[in-house]
Amino acid sequence: MEKIFISACFMGENVRYDGGHQSLTHQVIERWKKENRLVSGCPECLGGLPVPREPAEIQQKDKKIITLQGVDVTENFNNGASKALSICLKNNIKFALLKESSPSCGSNTIYNGEFSNTKIVGQGITTQVLTKHNITVFSEKTIDALIDALIDAINDSET
Ligand code: SF4
Repeated sequence: MEKIFISACFMGENVRYDGGHQSLTHQVIERWKKENRLVSGCPECLGGLPVPREPAEIQQKDKKIITLQGVDVTENFNNGASKALSICLKNNIKFALLKESSPSCGSNTIYNGEFSNTKIVGQGITTQVLTKHNITVFSEKTIDALIDALIDAINDSET
């Protein structure tokens, strides 16, 4: 079965930096849950960061991930990305559905590293790692493209 790696916060898990979640309500999510197609994980928690935690952003000058108070959490983010990749490889996963704009999970935009609430084009650390390993990352904004890609993959595997 084609499984999908999904941000744990989309599944209603309270793993966000602010202690909350980002439940994704979409008909297809309910169907995928019933089909046991979803494998959830929070890369930042997998990397050893607590909940709640300080917000962090990717610095544009050196690509380090620094919290609002100036703590370097790059290693946690890299470890979390590696663990997310391991989960995907173990489950033979080709597709991920990750939260847009997160410094781990963003696939089209991230914040600019200045904590000024400004988004720029870019990818989070986990998205970068998964993409390098041929896992296609979608977000809540591109879920229709994921549905199409999944249908194509299922059709291909049956022919
Ligand atoms: Fe959600 Fe990803 Fe942030 Fe974890 S790291 S809270 S899964 S957006």
